[in-house]
Amino acid sequence: MSEALISIQSRIAAAAQAAGRPADAVQLVAVSKLQPWDHIAPVFDGGQRVFGENRVQEAKERWRAHRGEIELRLIGPLQTNKARDAVAFFDVIETLDREKLARVLADEVQAQGEAPRLYVQVNTGEEPQKAGIIPADADVFIAACRGTYGLSVEGLMCIPPADEDPAPHFRLLADIAARNGLARLSMGMSDDFETAIACGATSVRVGSALFGAR
Ligand SMILES: *Cc1c(COP(=O)(O)O)cnc(C)c1O
Repeated sequence: MSEALISIQSRIAAAAQAAGRPADAVQLVAVSKLQPWDHIAPVFDGGQRVFGENRVQEAKERWRAHRGEIELRLIGPLQTNKARDAVAFFDVIETLDREKLARVLADEVQAQGEAPRLYVQVNTGEEPQKAGIIPADADVFIAACRGTYGLSVEGLMCIPPADEDPAPHFRLLADIAARNGLARLSMGMSDDFETAIACGATSVRVGSALFGAR
């Protein structure tokens, strides 16, 4: 049993309540990338069943044995040549960030007859080294995902710049979601998930605070 899991769960519930939201309004995505199984086991045994991974191959190696028991989310950049594997293995892909990927995902959804839930990643800080659609292009991109590619988008995801107050970035993501009719927001990590919940996060991606440093 994981003390860290209990602590993060209660901090999420407290932050939700402080924001006037139900305690269960925010889902915890436990980010297990790069963690050895002895760090993951206490969290899994504690009942956590939603996990986030950055890489398709690494996720398959780590989770193959428990695949049927968990919800698995891809939160790292997806190369188009891994799209087939990603559609087959993940329940949710949070990093839809360009048209070419939208096209390839649409083809895979058709071919496999199975559609992961999708989040569009927005590069709220417009950082050149970071993936994601820039905010000014988000509405057109979301419309293209839906219209041109027939994809159903569930929500938006962002990773704010490391050295800035994240709150304006979280609010920007919430604004883009609201005007596009999207109800889900994946935002907030170990250092800022309570701020994200105050800004409307419906899922938070927590790694090191749950499992220890990577
Ligand atoms: C690694 C990672 C996280 C978890 O970060 P922590 O600071 O360890 O909580 C969350 N989201 C994404 C996209 C990540 O790559």
